[in-house]
Amino acid sequence: MDVQIEDSEKAKQIVVLLIGPPGSGKSTFCDSVMRSSHRPWSRICQDIINNGKAGSKAQCLKMAIDSLKEGKSVFIDRCNLDREQRSEFIKLSGLEVEVHAVVLELPAQVCISRSVKRTGHEGNLQGGRAAAVVNKMLQSKELPKLNEGFSRIMFCYNDADVENAVNTYSMLGPMDKLPSGCFGQKNSDTKSQLGIMKFFKKVNTLPGSSSNETTEATRKANEKTENSRVSPTKHGSADIVHTLAFPSISTADFQFDLEKASDIIVEKAEEFLPKLGTARLVLVDLSHGSKILSAVKAKASRKNIDSARFFTFVGDITKLHSEGGLQCNVIANAANWRLKPGGGGVNAAIFKAAGPDLEAATRARANTLLPGKAVVVPLPSTSPLQNAEGITHVIHVLGPNMNPNRPNYLNNDYTKGCKSLREAYTSLFEGFLSIVQDQSKFPKRSNPAAVPDSSENIEDDSERNKKFKGPQDMAVASNLESGSVEDTRDSGKKMSKGWSSWALALHSIAMHPEKHENVVLESSDDIVVINDQYPKARKHLLVLARQQSLDGLEDVRRENLQLLQEMHSVGLKWVEKFQNEDSSLIFRLGYHSVPSMRQLHLHVISQDFESDNLKNKKHWNSFTSSFFRDSVDVLEEVKSQGKANVESEDVLKGELRCNRCRSAHPNIPKLKTHVRSCRSQFPEHLLHNNLLLARPERLDE
Ligand SMILES: [Zn+2]
Ligand SMILES: [Zn+2]
Repeated sequence: MDVQIEDSEKAKQIVVLLIGPPGSGKSTFCDSVMRSSHRPWSRICQDIINNGKAGSKAQCLKMAIDSLKEGKSVFIDRCNLDREQRSEFIKLSGLEVEVHAVVLELPAQVCISRSVKRTGHEGNLQGGRAAAVVNKMLQSKELPKLNEGFSRIMFCYNDADVENAVNTYSMLGPMDKLPSGCFGQKNSDTKSQLGIMKFFKKVNTLPGSSSNETTEATRKANEKTENSRVSPTKHGSADIVHTLAFPSISTADFQFDLEKASDIIVEKAEEFLPKLGTARLVLVDLSHGSKILSAVKAKASRKNIDSARFFTFVGDITKLHSEGGLQCNVIANAANWRLKPGGGGVNAAIFKAAGPDLEAATRARANTLLPGKAVVVPLPSTSPLQNAEGITHVIHVLGPNMNPNRPNYLNNDYTKGCKSLREAYTSLFEGFLSIVQDQSKFPKRSNPAAVPDSSENIEDDSERNKKFKGPQDMAVASNLESGSVEDTRDSGKKMSKGWSSWALALHSIAMHPEKHENVVLESSDDIVVINDQYPKARKHLLVLARQQSLDGLEDVRRENLQLLQEMHSVGLKWVEKFQNEDSSLIFRLGYHSVPSMRQLHLHVISQDFESDNLKNKKHWNSFTSSFFRDSVDVLEEVKSQGKANVESEDVLKGELRCNRCRSAHPNIPKLKTHVRSCRSQFPEHLLHNNLLLARPERLDE
């Protein structure tokens, strides 16, 4: 603490912390400055401080203090990548010295190849290890800020910046002083923050209001809620940053133009990052010379996309964790249309690494895939990819093909091709988003030290969802956005075990009604009203709860009572509206005991059941048996016992009975014929408590 400063009027000695991963050129920087500087410098390199061997931070500190005492300025030549690593050195400013930072933010690939060369090992293994070390370090990197205690920070992103910084320090005489402040920083953090803010402003302006423009007033109002929305949602497993690693789609075997593909990747990443909370997107390629990686990287940096959440990575997509040190829980596969192993490239590698489990799990979801579509496949916990690499889901994606020797050749039609590639990335990122949202809603109840088993949640869902099958590719979800939905739910053989994308579509609408303006009839902070995409009666609406954690009736607790009441009264309001148009309509409001679609939703359904979508016993029984829980009863139960009773799915297998007279019928057509003409009274239990909503004269018919 008793460093002798000869003259406090004079410029101070400087401690310069070099900040950068191995291979970023820290030592070279110091050497270049010291070679031509007129100021006495000492370079303190943790790698060699111990008689040429690596030493400790404490040794560095001690040597720094000693050098300062000798009147030297000091370079701290160690990675210094996070705040904590830097803090001890910044405290040296207490010794009346200035503490500066020089940040060497060179591309990771540059650092990796340099550190490989330096060790003289060109082999794959060494390369892989170097990549692992560098990438690992970069993941936990925190850029320095003036408020840590630096008086000056210089950022270098390329060789020219480095040269400039070297000159700045070389020319610094013993009496000179550099201006304070932060220099050369690309404003990526701030800008992406702004981008997020803008996005949330848009989100908060929900459709259904008379105007689409964001008025100043609503904008101000929205600002109040912004903080809570912008701050990362409380992800259940706080220690997991959801990360999707994906190869460039269509640019390898399908020979898609790299420039166009890189534009689309960046555009789609930019679009999805704000929706993904803290989750990350990583474009992966095997080779350091990858053109697609460098093109994407350059474009992303030009657009100031947050490089901590969207970046490129060189490595084997099936060994990112074990060899690259990159933790990803989801990987994308550039699949073939048959969703079969083989063919080479990423597809072959992923199927091989995942073992036969992946093929079986894929088969359970889909047999084929169309260009532009994706299918999310939870990886069985027995798969080596899950055990060794921590991967819980594989998302198969099929991109457009520009290779005349492959199926679905687009004959160089890039209008179609780009549209299809955009769709492919949209499907892929939406699939990833559904995983992120799905898992973020499950609070981690178990021992936090235990490895989070995310597949558990999926299995859990699959149990619930088994009875209702949905299409498993993303077709429906994306159709939904374009407003054209075909009923593929009953197409038979393609059965889903997890929440299908249709099943997830409700969730997506509830979370982002603004993206589904064409289907949303009404929305507020708490609810969204849409038409059921497969109405089972003349009038059939869904009132969706917008609350994240409510998948279905089983999740409902007393604290949700107010929400249930609002859903109920919104339902009543729509009944009123419909009955004003047609007073013969009779309605019930209720919930399915076990929902076929994720996100708590109240069915508002007229009791005519005149619909071609009503095709089977399950459809019928889900609305006419005790499986359908009347909203009035649910409200009463939640109020009195804190949760709602739910009926077993077994009742769906019961006989087909008329919803009025309860007569049994052998099949759906006969039942429908009967129901059309049956004018019996409704069963006794429905005639009380306003379970049946009819204009007064209608029930006595
Ligand atoms: Zn339902
Ligand atoms: Zn009847």
